[in-house]
Amino acid sequence: MKIAVVGIGKIARDQHLPAIAASPDWDLAATVSRSGIVEGVDAFADFSVMLEERPDIRTVSLCLPPVPRFAYAMQAIRAGRHVMLEKPPGATLAECHALTEAAREAGTALYATWHSRQADRVAAARAWLADKQLHSLTVTWKEDVRRWHPGQAWIWEPGGLGVFDPGINALSIVTEILPDAIHVTDARLEVPENRQTPIAAEIRFHHAGGAEVTATFDWRQEGPQTWEIEAVTDQGRLTLSEGGAVMQLEGLRQVDPALSVDTALSVDPALSVDPAPPNDPAPPAGEYPRLYEQMARLVERGGLDMDLRPLVLVADAFTLGRRVSTAAFID
Ligand code: NAP
Repeated sequence: MKIAVVGIGKIARDQHLPAIAASPDWDLAATVSRSGIVEGVDAFADFSVMLEERPDIRTVSLCLPPVPRFAYAMQAIRAGRHVMLEKPPGATLAECHALTEAAREAGTALYATWHSRQADRVAAARAWLADKQLHSLTVTWKEDVRRWHPGQAWIWEPGGLGVFDPGINALSIVTEILPDAIHVTDARLEVPENRQTPIAAEIRFHHAGGAEVTATFDWRQEGPQTWEIEAVTDQGRLTLSEGGAVMQLEGLRQVDPALSVDTALSVDPALSVDPAPPNDPAPPAGEYPRLYEQMARLVERGGLDMDLRPLVLVADAFTLGRRVSTAAFID
């Protein structure tokens, strides 16, 4: 199927273009960018012109920051195109609801992608937690903003989310792996005095089963980077690290047949259960190839996949969060 990528920036070049090039489902037929081109691919500077001149391209992948993305998404849906949205799916929840309604009316596929949910061990973590009683869950997401977002002004502007731009990835995993619902009860947001969005945040959540659930996001981490979720349950401790790529189980009281060979080996002491168990079907390797595979299936079925739970948590943290002014951030 032919696809156009819109917004040829960091994530388009790092992940989307290689994933499309390696995909058996997709053919990169055009790009839309004010500044970038891809050698040998039809290049447009104006989205309206692309939609008009290339009716054969039925799917667009929008790799723009959240604030400008809504107008592109709505225009594409109204032009009858299937739409794949980078995370977060919108700058506001209302935008996401409007897109969902429009896609439903137009009969087009609409996919709110959450790339971190496609990390290698997220599905195994979900399976392991499904029948456990959760005592606590702690998210620690600490990275160096200068390393991952060099010179990106939009993340510091309203709608840019600040440290919640990576933090929402953690929340996309949490909402995927926990069998029970959570919602924000309070938050503390540290906002640099010269910026509009937080550089760090502490969040507490209500958990339907009564567990203590907290998250710490910080963009000032130099040296080793930390993307970790630790869940303590009645049957041991699960740690997802490296953004969901690695899972460890500790202190298990019993072998869990659902996890087959990995868990049997991991009773004690802690054992990394990476890579995937031998009986797993063979999905494409990597987060973005899996997103593009899912988009292909959605287009074939004409479906909607708009799970907004991570964005609800972020929106509520902004609503309830106590703002604390902190040192100016200079890029
Ligand atoms: P980016 O490089 O700063 O921007 C992406 C592209 O969006 C730009 O190159 C530009 O494309 C276009 N753009 C920016 N502002 C625009 C505006 N006002 N109007 C129209 N187009 C505009 O950002 P990015 O890091 O790729 O992030 C894009 C999205 O991907 C964000 O939602 C982010 O959360 C998500 N994401 C990023 C990463 C990452 O590691 N960076 C990882 C996962 C997800 P042209 O110059 O081509 O027009």
